[in-house]
Amino acid sequence: MCQKCNVKRGPWYCTHIIDEIPPEKLEEGDLIEIKRNIYNHWAVYVGCNEVVHLTVDNPQTAVGFSLMVSHVDGVNTGKIKIEPLTYVCSRTLFRVNNKAPSPEAEANKRTNAETVKYALEMTETKKDTNYQLLKGNCEHFAKECRFGSEYAESLQVT
Ligand SMILES: [Zn+2]
Repeated sequence: MCQKCNVKRGPWYCTHIIDEIPPEKLEEGDLIEIKRNIYNHWAVYVGCNEVVHLTVDNPQTAVGFSLMVSHVDGVNTGKIKIEPLTYVCSRTLFRVNNKAPSPEAEANKRTNAETVKYALEMTETKKDTNYQLLKGNCEHFAKECRFGSEYAESLQVT
């Protein structure tokens, strides 16, 4: 139980007790689902407390707000960033969620090491590229890293 917010350990975690999460519960290449008010945010854990995730490029907005906007406004441009998990989840709970969009995607998923490599490459190659946010939101991006773009594209965004 977290002393600060009374959240028990798992499946959802707060960042106060991030150092206490067992290594097998948070591995490099894991997809991280982060609780938000309307849509949950998604990121790829790449190790050493860092995640790669798709955000809306607007430094003026708070993290939670900008990420919410990314789901409803196709005009916004996305930016792929690497940031500390404790920062991205600073006020919200998160969990590991590696659920595949389909059985085919599960059968063809990348290894954890390949997922991390792909995510890190995306921070280099797509850093300033417009990301089509209507069909490519933060969940789409995270699943693309683990399952490949052809499987992520079949994802039904809810
Ligand atoms: Zn806490």
